[in-house]
Amino acid sequence: MSRVLLNANNQITQKYNGISHKGVDLVKEKNKVADVIAHSDGVVVAVQTGQQNNPNATGNATYGNYVKLKHSDGYYTLYAHLKSVNVKKNAQVKRGDILGPMGNTGRSTGSHLHFELRNKNDVRVNPTPYLDKDLPNMKEKVDIIYQTYDTTKKRWLPNVKNDSDYAGNLGNAVSGVYIHLTEGNVKYRVHEKNNKWLPTVNNRDDYAGNLGKTIDGLQVESDTVKILYRVHLKNGKWLSWIDKWDDTNNGYAGILGREIDAIQLKIKD
Ligand SMILES: [Zn+2]
Repeated sequence: MSRVLLNANNQITQKYNGISHKGVDLVKEKNKVADVIAHSDGVVVAVQTGQQNNPNATGNATYGNYVKLKHSDGYYTLYAHLKSVNVKKNAQVKRGDILGPMGNTGRSTGSHLHFELRNKNDVRVNPTPYLDKDLPNMKEKVDIIYQTYDTTKKRWLPNVKNDSDYAGNLGNAVSGVYIHLTEGNVKYRVHEKNNKWLPTVNNRDDYAGNLGKTIDGLQVESDTVKILYRVHLKNGKWLSWIDKWDDTNNGYAGILGREIDAIQLKIKD
C-alpha cells in the first residue's frame, strides 16, 4: 500500500534517475489520481500555493503547489504539483494525513505526484525503496574505517574502526591514508610535507598521499555524517580534534612542516 497516496498502490510514471529527475512521479494504479498523504510523521517546513499549470515553469514555479515535510530522523519529503494544499507551514502532521489532492500545477503535463526524499543536508536521494515502507533509520550506526602507510616500514598498517585505536606507528611518519565509511561517502586529502595539498579522494577509490613522501596535514569531510579527526605529530603529541574542512587553522589537522605519525577519526553522534 502506498505511503504517499491515499488508498492506492503506486504506479510509477517516471523514475528517479539521480541526474535530470531527482524524484519519482506517481499516480494511483490504472492512471488514477488520488489524495496525497504524509509519508511519515513530521512538520510542514515549506508550502507553496496559488500556482497554475505551466509546463514551461522554472525556478520555484517548477514544483507548482507543494508541501515539504521534515521528519524526526532527519529526512525531508517533498510532494509537488498538488492541485491545492490542505496544510499550513509549521503544522505537525501524522503519517497518512492528507496534504492535498494530486494535481497538475507547475511544470507538469498531467495530474501526478512528484515525490522527493532528501537527506538531512537537503540533498535529494532515491525515494523508490521507501514508497511503501518506513524511511531508513538515519541513526543507524555508521563506522569510519581507516589506515595509514608507514613510510619507515614501507607498508600499509592494519585498518582501524572509529576511535577504538589510532592508525599509525608512533615514531614512523605517515605518507598515505585510506578512509572509508560503512555507509555514505567520505572525501579526504593530505598535505605533502613542505609542499602542497594532494588531490582529494573519495572512500577507497584511491589513497591520499604520495607513498614515501611524508605528510603534515589532513582534511576529512562527509556529507552524510559529521566526522571528527586529529593527528599525532612525530616526536610530539595529539593535536586538537577538527570538525570541518576549510582554509583556516582549524580547517585541517596538522602543523605544516611537522610530520604526522598517526591519525584518529570518529563520527560525531
Ligand atoms: Zn517528477
